[in-house]
Amino acid sequence: MIVVKTRVELQEKLSRVADDCVVGFVPTMGALHNGHCSLIDFAVKESDYTVASIFVNPTQFNDANDLENYPRTIESDLELLKQHGCDLVYIPNVDDVYYNERSFFVDLNGLDKVMEGEFRPGHFDGVVDVVSRLFDIVKPDKAFFGEKDFQQLSIIRYMSRDLNVDVVGCPTVRENDGLAMSSRNMLLEKSYRDEASVIYKSLNWAKDNYKGFAVSELKEEIGKRISETGKFIVEYINVVESDTLISIDEWTDNNVNCCVAVYAGKVRLIDNIKLNY
Ligand code: AMP
Repeated sequence: MIVVKTRVELQEKLSRVADDCVVGFVPTMGALHNGHCSLIDFAVKESDYTVASIFVNPTQFNDANDLENYPRTIESDLELLKQHGCDLVYIPNVDDVYYNERSFFVDLNGLDKVMEGEFRPGHFDGVVDVVSRLFDIVKPDKAFFGEKDFQQLSIIRYMSRDLNVDVVGCPTVRENDGLAMSSRNMLLEKSYRDEASVIYKSLNWAKDNYKGFAVSELKEEIGKRISETGKFIVEYINVVESDTLISIDEWTDNNVNCCVAVYAGKVRLIDNIKLNY
């Protein structure tokens, strides 16, 4: 596995890859876990040459403490990437990515205004900026993103319509008790970690039972279940059309997801489930 720190080195290595090779790309912020590894596995399976990046992107953090406390485990990250068959890893510093003025602006058709966009102002501007920069540097044919970050996946799909990158969504990988894997889980105090499976259990309950409830009642019931432990503060629970991310008040035949954000102490966790598909 080749490790490079600059885009110049990266492009030099990629110039040696045959033109007809399908380049698959997995952007990450490091602190890798099995969720990230599954994206690498998909990339290795569905492309000829797999590139990963590890870059904690400052522009997508709207909270300086969150950025400072974000876990960094570079040695074990590299070991995992190697084990899973990644060919090349790009570990840039901020200047290497933000070397020029932003050139990519896209109207996200409101996808960035709800849920994470509402509670983390500016977050998706940062995500779109960094992903478009990384796409521009790596020039992948395919890019792999997790369904765990459901809204992010929708936004990246939308922004990539004209970019000639095939965006592939990969299923959420979970801990044995159902908690969605996340780099932030390692920041959870034990008492929160012990109870955190209630988030997925409540979403799963919703998937099994949504037909018996009005949308607003369902959201209320999920909130009750998550809050019952006395440990978690719910930031939002939304039921949205999967394509448009528009909140629904009445059930529809269109695909819908239920998305939640929850504070476990100072750690913010998100998760979602497909309800009717
Ligand atoms: P991050 O390092 O948190 O920016 O995540 C990098 C990529 O890994 C994103 O596409 C995430 O959606 C994806 N990812 C994070 N956690 C999981 C998970 N538990 N299952 C599947 N993909 C994940």
